[in-house]
Amino acid sequence: MSDHIVLEAKNLKKIYNYHTLNAFEALHSINFQVMDGDFVAIMGPSGSGKSTFINTISTIDVPTEGRVYINGKDVRTMSENDIGRFRYQNLGFIFQDFNLLDTHTMFENIAMPLSLAHVDRQEIAERVQKLAEEMDIAELMNKFPYECSGGQRQRVAICRALINHPHLIMADEPTGNLDSANSAELMNILKNLNESGVTIVMVTHDPLISSYSSRMIYIKDGNIEKDLARGEMSQDEYFQKIVEMNSAESREILHK
Ligand code: ADP
Repeated sequence: MSDHIVLEAKNLKKIYNYHTLNAFEALHSINFQVMDGDFVAIMGPSGSGKSTFINTISTIDVPTEGRVYINGKDVRTMSENDIGRFRYQNLGFIFQDFNLLDTHTMFENIAMPLSLAHVDRQEIAERVQKLAEEMDIAELMNKFPYECSGGQRQRVAICRALINHPHLIMADEPTGNLDSANSAELMNILKNLNESGVTIVMVTHDPLISSYSSRMIYIKDGNIEKDLARGEMSQDEYFQKIVEMNSAESREILHK
């Protein structure tokens, strides 16, 4: 890990239904930094603000207050068009429900970020083919998502996230719809990517999935409550620590 900051959130606040009687502050002035090469797992109880947090730091949603800097660039100063281009050039997204378009073939789904960035068709074909071969899904390229299994769809979604060689990957419950074998496979892919230098920020409620990260932050009621670095711990020790931390927090909620 280097001392270069890839992502920084400053006083990040999200208020839903702002200016209404139903106003709800889902994030309370969060400060957060992700260093180059980090693999951050975001945990916390349901409704604590994890999705809101990952959406606002990854340009999908706009914070009510505060700033997000990605590679030093203030996202708020960019136009909608600029943000779109910035996303295709810098970020990879992996979602729980894969977010593949059912009316598009697997090839077209993977090619999407390149098509949107107007990359040359020949280059798109070559890059998709190469990545599909690496991920062992070349034979699925002419199929539609509904013709494939969950594990295959997730691999296609990973290819789509990787096709633009992003430096930063955002994943929201990426194993949420996978069985344990496919989850383990996905986590090994993410771990290898991280070891090759890609920075990852991932939401998960599962301590085992979280134990693949190098740092775990625990969000509660819209605040970062805990920030745990794996440091020299083995994956097993780190896993135990994450389990303990989660159960201590759960017990606190139970006894409130
Ligand atoms: P988590 O991902 O940890 O389950 P969320 O970020 O989805 O939590 O939600 C945090 C809080 O914000 C919850 O209380 C939720 O009800 C509220 N919330 C989320 N999205 C909206 C929305 N679009 N409008 C109003 N409230 C929302």
